[in-house]
Order: sequence, then C-alpha cells, then structure tokens
Amino acid sequence: MDNDCLFCRIVAGEIPATVVHETPTTLAFRDIDPKAPVHVLVIPKTHHRDVVALAADPGAAADVLAASAAVAEAEGLTGDGFRLIFNTGSHGGQEVFHVHAHVVGGRPLGPMVAR
Ligand code: 5GP
Ligand code: ZN
Repeated sequence: MDNDCLFCRIVAGEIPATVVHETPTTLAFRDIDPKAPVHVLVIPKTHHRDVVALAADPGAAADVLAASAAVAEAEGLTGDGFRLIFNTGSHGGQEVFHVHAHVVGGRPLGPMVAR
C-alpha cells in the first residue's frame, strides 16, 4: 500500500467509498463526481500507477477487466453498451495515479474524444 495514494487508502478502508463490487484482487466503487448515470471506478487492490504498469502484471490486468465486465453487467449496461476508459498520463487527463478503469454508461456518450 502507498500511504499517499487516495485509492490505496480506499482499499484500506481509511476513506469511505460506495463499493458496488469486490473480489480478492479488485474493488469497484462509484465515482465521487459521476459524468453519466453510471460511473464506476474499477481498481486492482495492489498499487500500479497506470495501465502501462498494470499490463506488466497480466493476472491483475485480467482481474480488472473481468471485474469491469461484471460491473457493466450488474449495472445493466451490456444491452445498450457503455465505455471502458483508462485515462493515462497528462494528455490522457489522469488525476489519480492508481490505475482505474472508468465504467461509464446509462446514456449515449457522444464522441469518443473532444476534437
Ligand atoms: P482520472 O482523471 O484519474 O482518470 O479519474 C479520477 C477519478 O476519480 C475522477 O473521475 C474523480 O471524480 C474520481 N475521484 C477523485 N477523488 C475521489 C474520491 O475520493 N472518491 C471517489 N469515489 N472518486 C474520486
Ligand atoms: Zn494506490
């Protein structure tokens, strides 16, 4: 655990979150500032700074992907679809440097990126 990391502190139970799904290796909780009717963050419980680091741990990466699919299913998003987003680095707009998949849906989401 990284004591300076917000999401490690959520995993440790030091900061409250609305948890919607948990496995031995992953945690999923609602985004504090939702950008759509459904906006859930899915994280590995172990600290990896971004998706590049996560990719070096294939087991954890697979677990995050499976948990993201389970959340999408549980939130009723698999019929109309949804978006799975890993913002990465400064151009990607990453603000929290503990890798997280955004599961976003519940309405048409518009263009993939701003032009
Ligand atoms: P990023 O920009 O790093 O991809 O996304 C970070 C996300 O974390 C943002 O959507 C932001 O609203 C969310 N967030 C920031 N602080 C907290 C928090 O304390 N609790 C929860 N649940 N979400 C947070
Ligand atoms: Zn962390």
